[in-house]
Amino acid sequence: MRVERTRCCVVGGGPAGMMAGLLLARQGCEVIVLEKHADFLRDFRGDTVHPSTLELIAELGWIEEFLQLPHAKMREVTVSIGGRQITFADFRRLPARCPYIAFMPQWDFLDFLANKAAGYAGFRLMRDARMTELIAEGGRTVGVRATTTQGPLEVRADLVIAADGRHSTAREQAGLEPARSAPPMDVLWFRLPRRQGDQVPFFQNGRGGVLISIDRGDYFQHAYAIPVGDYPKLREAGLPAFHERIGAAAPALADRVTLIDDWEKVHDLTVRVDRLSRWHRPGLLFIGDAAHAMAPAGGVGINLAVQDAVATANLLAPVLRRGGEVSENELAKVQARREWPAKVTQAFQVRVLRGLYPKDLIDDTADHAPLVFDAFRALPPLRHAMGRFIGLGARPEHITQPLA
Ligand SMILES: Cc1cc2nc3c(=O)[nH]c(=O)nc-3n(C[C@H](O)[C@H](O)[C@H](O)COP(=O)(O)OP(=O)(O)OC[C@H]3O[C@@H](n4cnc5c(N)ncnc54)[C@H](O)[C@@H]3O)c2cc1C
Repeated sequence: MRVERTRCCVVGGGPAGMMAGLLLARQGCEVIVLEKHADFLRDFRGDTVHPSTLELIAELGWIEEFLQLPHAKMREVTVSIGGRQITFADFRRLPARCPYIAFMPQWDFLDFLANKAAGYAGFRLMRDARMTELIAEGGRTVGVRATTTQGPLEVRADLVIAADGRHSTAREQAGLEPARSAPPMDVLWFRLPRRQGDQVPFFQNGRGGVLISIDRGDYFQHAYAIPVGDYPKLREAGLPAFHERIGAAAPALADRVTLIDDWEKVHDLTVRVDRLSRWHRPGLLFIGDAAHAMAPAGGVGINLAVQDAVATANLLAPVLRRGGEVSENELAKVQARREWPAKVTQAFQVRVLRGLYPKDLIDDTADHAPLVFDAFRALPPLRHAMGRFIGLGARPEHITQPLA
């Protein structure tokens, strides 16, 4: 068994893990990030980089370079319900350098972080390294075991940060069970080609159901929301019925829905909304989806994960640099800082947006918008406030630690 020693071992190279690893290394801490995959190339992952994350990249001095990567900008969120269109969130007046959501494949975002992190002496990313076990000694996590292409690996660390996502192995290993909220919907993801001039609202709830269409240049990435557990019923009804639904939801795309000629082209995402009541154990801290899985509404999962990572580095880098064990009190400060934004955002996703979720697969015709939507039409400040909540989050973090 190969044994490595480091100050901090981060499990998971997603947005939370990569950003935490990068910022800790930037602060002069030794970090090893373990990622079970060989690369970041995974389809149908969160692809939104919100203004809060763009602001952080700007604070790090990399924004011009970052914006060279191919992306599409969204300056407002339009919602069409029962044929009526409103602007639900407007980002234009945000106090941020980039007042828009950048749609960018997540692998590009993660590759960018990995390349930047590689410039710091203390940073190591181990790909193809799957954490299988936490190592506990005297009631404290002191490292992890992993399988790698070069055989088994043991990483000993003063702190393990579990950023291994919504199906966290670390959480299971630690015997922790997050409290779950009833998910508001399930989501099917698929793509359709986009032709020049195609205009499709971002969010539509009308005949055919609830369809989100993300303009990705030469194609649309679609999310089709269905009532929880109804995917088998939809499949049973057959592909022609599915085509009809999507064509009704987005008539502009009716001419190409038959390109979905196999259910293999439709990816079913079971939505999960959960949260750990305690994000830490001695020597172990959970952040990102491992601590709180978000519903897809607002596309805020990546950004909350990134914000957790920033708070973690702000609070723990000075402690890690000092050397020795990181006390649970220090870890509790991360939860104290980040739990409230996660709670508020989940409540917003599950309760406030309830009126937008599909209720019935048979009768899915939304012919009127909830009353509150009229207020968005009439009051621009509401649209700006919503833009601020979605774009910057409930408690935006900033890079407070200078380069070590
Ligand atoms: C289909 C889909 C669409 C989404 N769309 C959006 C969106 O548009 N906008 C948005 O903001 N959010 C979206 N989300 C949610 C968003 O992707 C997550 O909230 C965000 O990625 C969480 O980041 P994370 O780093 O905490 O976890 P993850 O992104 O899940 O990263 C965890 C990482 O840990 C690795 N890992 C897991 N187990 C191990 C192990 N045992 N050993 C080593 N590595 C391990 C995984 O390979 C992964 O790279 C979507 C999620 C899904 C599933």
